[in-house]
Amino acid sequence: MSVDETRNVPSLPRIFLFEPGWRIARKSGSEREFCYLMAPGQDFYHRLMDGEVFLHRSDEKICLPCAARRGLLSYDPKSLRDPAPGTNLAIDELLSGFDVVVREEGDGTR
Ligand SMILES: [Zn+2]
Repeated sequence: MSVDETRNVPSLPRIFLFEPGWRIARKSGSEREFCYLMAPGQDFYHRLMDGEVFLHRSDEKICLPCAARRGLLSYDPKSLRDPAPGTNLAIDELLSGFDVVVREEGDGTR
């Protein structure tokens, strides 16, 4: 039974927020509060629901889907150092090239 429940839960990615000034908050209570952004296809500001997790910066409040659309959220952690693009690929090529060279030398000796 619990397996079925687990299977039905959509898997959420880990979410990162790097934009300075924004904080995470949770809507609590029945006071009417609205998302700062309109969703696509809607011409009204949608309400933040009781218990909803949202982003806020001073008076701006943004629900998570709108924040993701606006590019405020990231699904990858920020790396401490900027890896040079292609570094991993270069190492992979070097390793596979080394393997090939060893096999060719072994075949040539015999
Ligand atoms: Zn929204």
